[in-house]
This record gives sequence, structure tokens and C-alpha cells, in this order.
Amino acid sequence: MSTTALTGIGLLVTHDPELGELPDAALVIDDDRIVWVGPAAEVPDADESSDLDGRCVIPGFVDSHTHLVFAGDRAAEFEARMSGQPYTAGGIRSTVAATRAATDEDLTSHAAGLIAEMLASGTTTTEIKTGYGLSTVDEERSAHVASRLSGDVTFLGAHVVPPEYADRTDDYVALVAGPMLEACAPYCRWIDVFCDRDAFDVDQARTILTAGAARGLGLRVHANQLANGPAVQLAVELAAASADHCTHLSDADIDALAGSPTVATLLPGAEFSTRSPYPDARRLLDAGATVALATDCNPGSSYTSNMAFCIALAVREMGMTPAEALWAATTGGARALRRDDVGVIMVGARADLVALQAPSPVHLAYRPGVPLIAATWKGGQPITAIGG
Ligand SMILES: [Zn+2]
Repeated sequence: MSTTALTGIGLLVTHDPELGELPDAALVIDDDRIVWVGPAAEVPDADESSDLDGRCVIPGFVDSHTHLVFAGDRAAEFEARMSGQPYTAGGIRSTVAATRAATDEDLTSHAAGLIAEMLASGTTTTEIKTGYGLSTVDEERSAHVASRLSGDVTFLGAHVVPPEYADRTDDYVALVAGPMLEACAPYCRWIDVFCDRDAFDVDQARTILTAGAARGLGLRVHANQLANGPAVQLAVELAAASADHCTHLSDADIDALAGSPTVATLLPGAEFSTRSPYPDARRLLDAGATVALATDCNPGSSYTSNMAFCIALAVREMGMTPAEALWAATTGGARALRRDDVGVIMVGARADLVALQAPSPVHLAYRPGVPLIAATWKGGQPITAIGG
């Protein structure tokens, strides 16, 4: 295997507690791994070399919460919402109808297009949820499609109750926790439940999550997006890897998260796109909770694939410093996926890297909406040519 040295790094932000931030740095990639990190003056010989001309390098973004397997869009619903109609979880059903009608090839090429969009904007790891099939066959199809694009696939049969189970929610919960879980589990690493007002209640969520854990899946919870409720506490009680949204939090919720390994994953694209109040990241951070940022990319409540946009929102609207927001979008996302090979630049980590057309990552929030991603490497492979 040949080695590649990246030299001329003006500022290297590693998120390795030992290395911290290095000015005038270099690193060496061998195959898909980082094998050397240090001062530019000490870079060892490599087979190839690329001069980054003073650009800042950060870990690739880790997007730990997306819903990429779907068909259709809901621009009309967004337009209506921006004209004053409130967001409810029920709009998911229109995407379910479109997804069921789509072929596997259509679903795959559409999701792959979104992954390409994400890579070009610096996201090198993407979790993908099912949840727009909501029948055993369509959830299994969705899980299979997702597994071709990501190693972190989440079974979200409990996204919303499909129309054919209206007024029979307990029957649907039994389906999700039984045959649907059995069909999807081989493609999945995680299971998730939308536990909220107008969604699944805490007992239904517990039934489904417990069944998933028994099947060997890790746990994630859509928690407290729409209202205060018991979902965050349930996530902590069941040692879920992540409680996602956390828009409405009581003091007890914050204490529970702060004293647990459960990551609070904040999704400001959803608040932006539903014109809702943002979660208070400052309270979580000050309490000692681990915070991740993710896009929640989905056609209804957050149709952005752009992590830099979410970083800008987190800094402007949620009380995070630029450094905290960057950490949450990289290392925090890795923690939410219980991974230590991504979200950090250190020897042995995957060579998932982003070079910024900027001297520091502060510019991600300081220059919102500006395309600052000069280049991305995923597993050591360059995705976007500098200047291209
Ligand atoms: Zn979601």
C-alpha cells in the first residue's frame, strides 16, 4: 500500500486530547488509516505528498441521525408550515406512501445521491434510519438499501403508526417488536423509537426497544422533540447510545443525561425547518452531558444534509461555542454511534478528513452558507479535488 503525506496544514484540529490543535502540521495516510500526525517540519517520507497551502484540517463530520431512505419530497408541506400551519408528526405518512410505491433501485439511487451531497459538504460517516416503509416488507427493503450505504443502520419501524393500523397501535407495536424486527435486524446495528406526543408512548417504546436489545441491537430514541415527556428518562434507563432531539428538557432530564453515557443528540435543522424553539445546548454542556449535532436529514422536518449549516445554527441559536459545535458534529457524533475510529484525527483512526477553505473552523459558523469545504477524504480516498 502506498502512503500519502498531507503537508502545509495551517491548523490541524485533532480532537485528540493529547494532540489538541497543531499549527503548521502534517499527517500521513496509509490505506484507510492515519499513521502519523505532527509538526510539518518533522513529516516522514511518503510515497505521495499533497500541499494544503495553509488550509485548516478537521475530522470529517459524523452525522449520527438521518432518514435517507425515502421517495418524494414535502416542499408543499414546508411552504404551508412557513405560511403559519403547525408541524405535526402525521406528515410522515405521505412519505410512507411514496416510499412504498418506489422501487429498491429508486430508493438506493436517491439515498446515494444524498450521501454524495453529504460527502461533498464534509460528512464522512452517516447513520441511516428506516421508517418510511412501516410494513415488514417495506421496512426490510429500506434496511437493505441503507445497509448498502452505511454500517450504521437503524431500524425505525416505530416512526409513526401507518394508516392501516389506525386505532390499533398495540397491534402495530407487536408487529414492530416481532416479525418486522426479525426481518430488519440482519441489516441493522441499531433500533430507534419516536417516543413523543402524537407518537409512541413510553410503554410502547419500552416494549420495542427491549425487543431490539434482546435481538442484539443498540438503542437510540427520538425523545422530547414535540413536548416534555418520559422519553429522555427512558433512553437513560435503558442505556441507549443516544437521546435525539432533546428540544424540551426538564431539569431531571438534564441531570439524567449528565450522569449517563447516553449522548444528547441535537438536531437544529428540525427546529429551523419547523420554526420551533431550539434546544438549550448550553444547559446540557454546563451540566456535563455529552452533546452531538446531526442533520436529521429527512423530507419532512429537516431536509438539509449540511452539517456546517447545523454548526452555524448551534452557535447562533443554541449557546454553543464554535469549538463545542465542531466537537459535537464530529467526536460527539462518533460517541453517539459508540465509535472511536472516526470523529478524531490520531494515529490509528480512519483517514476521514476535511480541508477547509478557511484558516480556522470558526469560519463554519462565522461565514454561514458559504461553501468552505475545500476537500474531503473518506477512508484515505480524496472525494473532492481542491479547487474542484
Ligand atoms: Zn429523526
